[in-house]
Amino acid sequence: MALIVQKFGGSSVANAERVKNVAGIVTDTYKAGNNVVVVVSAQGDTTDDLIEKAREINSKPSNREMDMLLSAGEQISISLLAMAIEDLGYPVVSLLGWQAGFETDSNHSAARIKKVNTSRLKKELDKKNIVIVAGFQGLNKYDDITTLGRGGTDTRAVAIAASLHADRCQIFTDVEGVYTSDPRKVSNAKKLNEITYDEMLELATLGAQVLNNRSVEMAKKYNVEVEVLSSLKRVPGTIVKEVTKLEKMLVRGVTKDTDVTRISIMAVPNIPGIAFKIFGRLAAKNINVDIILQSVGRNDTKDISFTIAKDHCDLALQTLKDFDLLDGLEIISDSDVAKVSVVGAGMETHPGTAATMFKALYEKDINIQMISTSEIKISVLIDKKDADSAVSAVHAAFFAE
Ligand code: ASP
Ligand code: MG
Repeated sequence: MALIVQKFGGSSVANAERVKNVAGIVTDTYKAGNNVVVVVSAQGDTTDDLIEKAREINSKPSNREMDMLLSAGEQISISLLAMAIEDLGYPVVSLLGWQAGFETDSNHSAARIKKVNTSRLKKELDKKNIVIVAGFQGLNKYDDITTLGRGGTDTRAVAIAASLHADRCQIFTDVEGVYTSDPRKVSNAKKLNEITYDEMLELATLGAQVLNNRSVEMAKKYNVEVEVLSSLKRVPGTIVKEVTKLEKMLVRGVTKDTDVTRISIMAVPNIPGIAFKIFGRLAAKNINVDIILQSVGRNDTKDISFTIAKDHCDLALQTLKDFDLLDGLEIISDSDVAKVSVVGAGMETHPGTAATMFKALYEKDINIQMISTSEIKISVLIDKKDADSAVSAVHAAFFAE
């Protein structure tokens, strides 16, 4: 008998009909002889609606009270799903985060799981119950309710799978799996059968909205096999695991990220320690820097450019302005940029991937502002208006029609 953890996101349980559909999937899995633990998010836009309700009352509510409010969404969805399963005649119990033994730190609204006390979960499974657990929420050492941050239900499901040594963690969503690019924008985007944790992490970080990246980190750390699949169509999805043997593909995916700002500091003094001082100051403000480009020094000066997440732009500019060493220097920021990336473990051992990508961009007359590479990723920074055509062109270069 296998133990399967199934996670259903908000859209999969958005209304009564969808809740009943999920109850069907869960009970079919149970009927096939498996133990099943189900982790559910709040229905549809419930979490956003609750945030809106809070805003109408207080523009800066404390994170503790926000957690108290937002955790209510999952309490609704677990009980409704349990009722739908009762109605089908199966034994079921729903549990809030604390009842399921989730201890977190006290970082309200972005709490980290510290420990999962599985005794209650195990007791319910021994009684042959289907166990429905609220996603997203936990309890800190002061017995206050915490939440794991938006999308935290994926992480919750993987944590349960890891602590119960489940055979598989299935993440149900409204797409059929992980694709080589956004299927809504790239007509011949293909569904992948398998993908490695590292590739998935790159895709998740680069904005492919299928899995939350903390959940992928956790799956990798505890070696939990994850399957991403559709709750609406019963077809096999994409399996995320350590090594894939099927399809030794060069490139797994092409993505874009438009949440980027480029900052350039012109004519900084060409002396040792400048990069350390600039990036040290940004790091001290918790600003995460991505692509960095420094020109070769000329006439005792050099230019330094780098990219950051768009919402760090103001803080970064202020930090640079406050730095006396840069007094009087020209600092330019540009948010009309996009990062387009190809990801794939195969490129590590395969020459020519970068050239193929650059050729596709050249043929569309798209100018590259910055380039960065790692063993499994090549990213270019381009003009934002070119982002969609760049993704299509690069995708076409790696994946034949
Ligand atoms: N309901 C929460 C949210 O929308 C958690 C989740 O969906 O994973 O962020
Ligand atoms: Mg949600």
